[in-house]
Amino acid sequence: MVASIYSINEEKKTIWVYLESDQGSLEGVSLEMLTKGRQLANRVGWSLAGLLLGHQVVHLAHEAFAYGADQVYMAEHPLLEYFTIDAYARVVEQALMEGVPSVFLLGATPNGRDLAGRMAVRQRTGLNADCTGLQINPENGVLVSEVSGFGGGVLALIEMQTHRPQMATVRPGVFTLGEPDHKNIGDVIIIPVELAVDDIHTCVTERVMGQGVDLTRTPVLVAGGRGVEGDFNMLTELADLLGGDVGATRPSVDEGHIERERQIGQTGVVCSPKVAICCGISGAFHFIVGVEKADLVIAINSDSEAPIFEFSDYCIVGDVHQIIPKLIEALREVPEVVYA
Ligand SMILES: Cc1cc2nc3c(=O)[nH]c(=O)nc-3n(C[C@H](O)[C@H](O)[C@H](O)COP(=O)(O)OP(=O)(O)OC[C@H]3O[C@@H](n4cnc5c(N)ncnc54)[C@H](O)[C@@H]3O)c2cc1C
Repeated sequence: MVASIYSINEEKKTIWVYLESDQGSLEGVSLEMLTKGRQLANRVGWSLAGLLLGHQVVHLAHEAFAYGADQVYMAEHPLLEYFTIDAYARVVEQALMEGVPSVFLLGATPNGRDLAGRMAVRQRTGLNADCTGLQINPENGVLVSEVSGFGGGVLALIEMQTHRPQMATVRPGVFTLGEPDHKNIGDVIIIPVELAVDDIHTCVTERVMGQGVDLTRTPVLVAGGRGVEGDFNMLTELADLLGGDVGATRPSVDEGHIERERQIGQTGVVCSPKVAICCGISGAFHFIVGVEKADLVIAINSDSEAPIFEFSDYCIVGDVHQIIPKLIEALREVPEVVYA
């Protein structure tokens, strides 16, 4: 087996969280990982650091401190204003070599995944992707990553005994966000950056913003599957009346009925709403992992044997095209829905 670039003897007992930012604020998943990282660090007596890249981003370091970071390693440069894999990989690699953290966590976002794979190869270490749980063994400092496999039939605990850093990606919504403490401050450690335009082979010609939907925070999720037959207007109306938002299964996204950022499940978003209403969805494991943290699940399906009913608190057997319009009609009579 090929040895990692730095070894267990050279590592520093610290957990690093990659701080991904967009439009002047940190991504929710970065804050969730800081919350989790703080718990892990406290348990084993290590420090927690954020790794922040960008242009004029020092204010984000303070956000990271509020969520538990002891230090923020910061690389600022005009060529880091937007994510390009060439520039970011180069700077992150340099930072890892200087900081030699034992653990390096990244969000399983498109950019986080891109960076994580490249860093794991460059550091000749392993990468546990899409972890659903993380622990550190206090005896030996080994990160124990919980990962589901074989369509959810197996829950594996993966350890990296000898390679460093111990890398893992975590999807948005998997860890609970803690309460910020804005009195918490830490050290900003500057990473000197040497970058030239020629170092970057990606040319950003246009930035097209998504709608900025954050389904991880919605109190009510109205999710539609193939059984809805693309009628997401109906679901949007229901979600609006309930003060919630609309999500979808992967086939509905693949068939082009709705934007990809609304996909729920293993390769989409993990939500933790108070109520999830699953409409015309069979209940495949890949979807269920995205709603299993909901306080209450209501399913509507024409097939009384549909697996979704096994995960639901309320099961409505029937045609979504008949039931949802009736629900909408009934809700219009209710003055306002308030969630405690
Ligand atoms: C590696 C991998 C990753 C995946 N990741 C994801 C993921 O992140 N998210 C995801 O969703 N899927 C994911 N999938 C796909 C997943 O396995 C299922 O195929 C998918 O979730 C099924 O979507 P569905 O429930 O919309 O469709 P179907 O399984 O076709 O179910 C449609 C349901 O609608 C019901 N129905 C039909 N007509 C009506 C009606 N008029 N009224 C009421 N009910 C009706 C049917 O009885 C049926 O139960 C992944 C698959 C793989 C292999």
